[in-house]
Amino acid sequence: MTATSLPGTHALLSDNDGNAQVLAALDSACRDLSLPAHTREMLCHARDALQAASVDAEVARLRYHALFDAVPDPVSIIDEHGIVLDLNKAGMAAYRRPREEIVGQPIHVLNPDLPEDHMAPVWDAVDRGESFVIEVSNMRADGTRFPVEVHSAGFLHDGRKCVVAVARDLSRRREAEVRYRELMEVIDKGIVIQTADGSLVYANSAALRMIGVPGHVPGHPNQRTPRPASEWMVVREDGSEMPAEEYPAMRAIREGRLIGSTLLGLYHRPQRKLRWLSVTSVPQYAAGSDRPHQALSMFSDVTALKRDSALFHRVQTLARIGGWEWDRAAARLYLTDVAAGILAQAQLPASIDDMIACLAHDDRARFRRAVDATILEGHGFDLELQGSRADGHAFWVRVIGEAEPGDPGASRITGTLQDITAHKQGQETLRVQARTDPLTGLLNRDAILGELAARMADATLSRVAVLYIDLDRFKMVNDVLGHSAGDALLVTAAQRLRRAVGTEGLIARFGGDEFLVACSTADDPDSPERLADAILDAFAIGFGVEKEEFAVTASIGIARAPDDGESPHALIQSADTAMYASKRRVRNGRQVFTPAMAQSQRDRLRFETQLRHAADNDEFHLVYQPQVDLVSGRIVAAEALIRWRNERLGEMRPDHFISQAESTGDIVRIGLWVLRMACRQVAEWRDAGHGIVRVAVNVSYRQFLGDDLAANVRALLDEYALPGAALELEFTERVLIEDAPETMNTFAQLRAMDVALAIDDFGEGYSALNYLRRLPIQGLKLSQLFVAGVPGNASDVAVCQAVAGIAHSLGLGLVAEGVENEEQRAFLLALGVPVGQGFLFSPGLPADQFALSLGAPGTR
Ligand code: C2E
Ligand code: CA
Ligand code: CA
Repeated sequence: MTATSLPGTHALLSDNDGNAQVLAALDSACRDLSLPAHTREMLCHARDALQAASVDAEVARLRYHALFDAVPDPVSIIDEHGIVLDLNKAGMAAYRRPREEIVGQPIHVLNPDLPEDHMAPVWDAVDRGESFVIEVSNMRADGTRFPVEVHSAGFLHDGRKCVVAVARDLSRRREAEVRYRELMEVIDKGIVIQTADGSLVYANSAALRMIGVPGHVPGHPNQRTPRPASEWMVVREDGSEMPAEEYPAMRAIREGRLIGSTLLGLYHRPQRKLRWLSVTSVPQYAAGSDRPHQALSMFSDVTALKRDSALFHRVQTLARIGGWEWDRAAARLYLTDVAAGILAQAQLPASIDDMIACLAHDDRARFRRAVDATILEGHGFDLELQGSRADGHAFWVRVIGEAEPGDPGASRITGTLQDITAHKQGQETLRVQARTDPLTGLLNRDAILGELAARMADATLSRVAVLYIDLDRFKMVNDVLGHSAGDALLVTAAQRLRRAVGTEGLIARFGGDEFLVACSTADDPDSPERLADAILDAFAIGFGVEKEEFAVTASIGIARAPDDGESPHALIQSADTAMYASKRRVRNGRQVFTPAMAQSQRDRLRFETQLRHAADNDEFHLVYQPQVDLVSGRIVAAEALIRWRNERLGEMRPDHFISQAESTGDIVRIGLWVLRMACRQVAEWRDAGHGIVRVAVNVSYRQFLGDDLAANVRALLDEYALPGAALELEFTERVLIEDAPETMNTFAQLRAMDVALAIDDFGEGYSALNYLRRLPIQGLKLSQLFVAGVPGNASDVAVCQAVAGIAHSLGLGLVAEGVENEEQRAFLLALGVPVGQGFLFSPGLPADQFALSLGAPGTR
């Protein structure tokens, strides 16, 4: 086919040569005078009209070409046989060919792959008045191909059908699509495209991998075998089945909007495999449509994350540790469920101020300061804070917070919040226990000392007084009735104290039967005396212990701070001193501390110190008081009596210091020294030819408390080569009452050594006769208390007679103490008392003088 064979179209589209020839012919005809004038005139009109038309056509032609070439995409005009009638500039550039090589050629010159009947579908569409779109690959002059999308539309020219084809170069789009596909395949998020009916159009490899059941993707068209939908179940976060209309993809299509991170579980029934996915779905629209036809869903597998977070949540719940975050920019506080549960407020705290508001008053400022410091200085904090829950219960939390690492502006503060209430309560219980006397529930010694120290350190509270309360005769109840009765009595005493003191003071058990009351004197300077009187009243009624009634009274000493003591110890010491003064004066009374007492107190302290060092300083010595046969007047034995000579304090009788040494325990060391000196003395006298003089040594109950008295005696007898019979041990009934586990054993061992045992001051104590029979004792010493009253005092006479009778009937030896005159001697002699001891015969004598009274060696 040639261009000339298509005159109509060509004439319009290419040039005007035909018109020019007609015009020239008309012009010469109208000048042809052989023609009739009206014919020439008509031809001239035709010439002029044609000339005018030619000019218009030329203008149109030029305009058309400008427009045609201005189109940026290749445009070709093709006739009904597929011949290219025209091609624009963009077409020449795209196919890299001049117009002449293409115009007049069949379309195959641009696309050799087109089938023979390729125009048929084009005409089908065009005939329906639609445009035809096809993606094909076109060829350049050099044979290379490029993808195009061709839009074809029909038009009529000269009654003949033509097609205008606009080709859009798809190379870029194709590249982008390839990149997009590649991206879809390498991305670690699962991507699926689903249509409105739920069928899967596309799934990337991550999606296939994640769902983890190869070929079993629900609804995937690439499945090797179609699987029934029932193999899969989609579940909500709570495990319930999620209906299809709730799937994020379905919602995205239905609602035409993005459905953000939705957690769902994909359960594969046959494999019993549950995967948790976080899915985001976006609707997709077909070109020109305003309703989505499909949805693209992106998802990640959060199974591990969910497991971890579930685990984390469980751990949090168990450990009662929650998390919190304060987003400063958004002014929003975020609390994990556990954290919110710990704070347990009526309204979930939504701001840092809400959180501060549930804290105890003092802790609010602490917390705020810590947060401010974190913002300003960047270091975190770790605080223990107290607050209260909506139900009024107090909580303790440990709050740790820090700015997010790498966040210079500290725009977020995150941390943990741990419930330490139980721990704190435990500590509090321990603290209370540590402060409480377990028997009476009163404060203990440490606690009252601490309370006093705190008050005395505070100028506004320092006007305090202390009442030192000692129960009179408590020791007797305890000794006679036993410890449990003693305990019951203390509990009752504590109750009475509580009632008497009320809220006016703190009460503490300070020692065995000693109590302290601390009260303020700020409002009422006389309140200590008032409280003391109330306490004395409370003790006026007897105590019922084991169905018996005991009068247990109290002695109270009062001391005021700061005059009577500037430290708790000094103050209590003063109150103690006053209490002793009261006790000495009159039992069941109160005594206010005076400076004179302080002096005697200091003396006593000095005395104690001196006593402690007396043994080391060789300040003790022994005197020996003869025990005389009341009939013959012969010395039968000696009692060793200790003496203390101190440079400053002078010579002291044991009555002044023995009880002191007993209370401090020094007596044990002193007592051993006495035993040693006595044994050494007996050995010395023996060696001097006086024979064995039996020496009686006083032994304190405290020496029986240990288990080494018998062993010590044994060692001394051995050391001085003495028979046990050279020694007699005198002890008071206190030894029997203490009832130390080793006492009976000690007695037995001493008896086995032939050491004599005697009960001193017999008759003074609460002698229970039944034990006398059980004990391996050899003698009694009739107390001088009763000897002093004979023969004049009838009751003393009665006691002496009774004691003599007991000794006689039990076959025990008897020594009467404190025999000062002849009447007593005669009385005792008449009573059958064999031995006497007293000033009538001799006081205690130094060893050499005693030896003299023994007479010349060898005469005994
Ligand atoms: P005690 O065992 O009853 O000793 C007798 C006390 O009566 C002695 O007083 C003695 O000096 C005193 N005395 C002796 N004859 C008469 C008298 O006719 N009239 C009066 N009024 N008193 C007389 P001392 O030496 O002051 O001892 C007092 C107490 O000290 C003793 O009483 C004894 O219980 C204790 N004691 C003495 N030496 C020791 C010792 O080495 N160890 C222990 N644990 N206690 C001792
Ligand atoms: Ca004695
Ligand atoms: Ca005595």
